[in-house]
Amino acid sequence: MSMKCKETVTCPECGQEQDFIVWHSLNGDLNPEAKQQLLDGKLFHFECSNCGHRSNVDYGMLYHDMTNQVMVYFADEDSVAETLTTMNDTENKIGIPMPEYRKRVVTDQNALREKAIIFNQKLDDRVIEIIKLIYYSNASKQVPDANINAVYFLVADGKYILQFIGEKSLSAEVPVEMYEKIKSDFAERLEKAGDKDALVDLHWASEFLRCE
Ligand SMILES: [Zn+2]
Repeated sequence: MSMKCKETVTCPECGQEQDFIVWHSLNGDLNPEAKQQLLDGKLFHFECSNCGHRSNVDYGMLYHDMTNQVMVYFADEDSVAETLTTMNDTENKIGIPMPEYRKRVVTDQNALREKAIIFNQKLDDRVIEIIKLIYYSNASKQVPDANINAVYFLVADGKYILQFIGEKSLSAEVPVEMYEKIKSDFAERLEKAGDKDALVDLHWASEFLRCE
């Protein structure tokens, strides 16, 4: 199920109050329009009807993709540990083990959108994080003055794109074959590692590559 509330947001520019839909949990299969907004990076967008000011409203939520059996919790950095506990408790309370389910915790809107995109494309986010790490270290070396501090995966016109966030805006296309190659190169180790980690990010990828 999905849970949403209508809340009042005050425009930071002109002070007008306006209704805004806040999703506490969003089931992408039941609410395809909201899911599409999330995939397009528009779910958190606020546009003032009075002055046209645009900003992002930030709030935590649970994203549920039933088709691909994934739950992604978006929590702020201070509540990651708490979220992990709640996540496990909920599963225990429901009493239905969901062994096939992948569960993730992310701490920013871009990462939530990224996970939604990855799973919607039926890709493995662990493989994507490994690829991101390779590109990230190359780009940081090749364009040091860009001061890249984050990288996000997205799909545009069927192409796999990495967007680097920093002082310069950079992007790179990842050939589909590269995804397939990394996936098959690491297949055995990924299988062995299992898919139970909730925090699958660049840090996860560097640990994975570092440890046998
Ligand atoms: Zn306004």
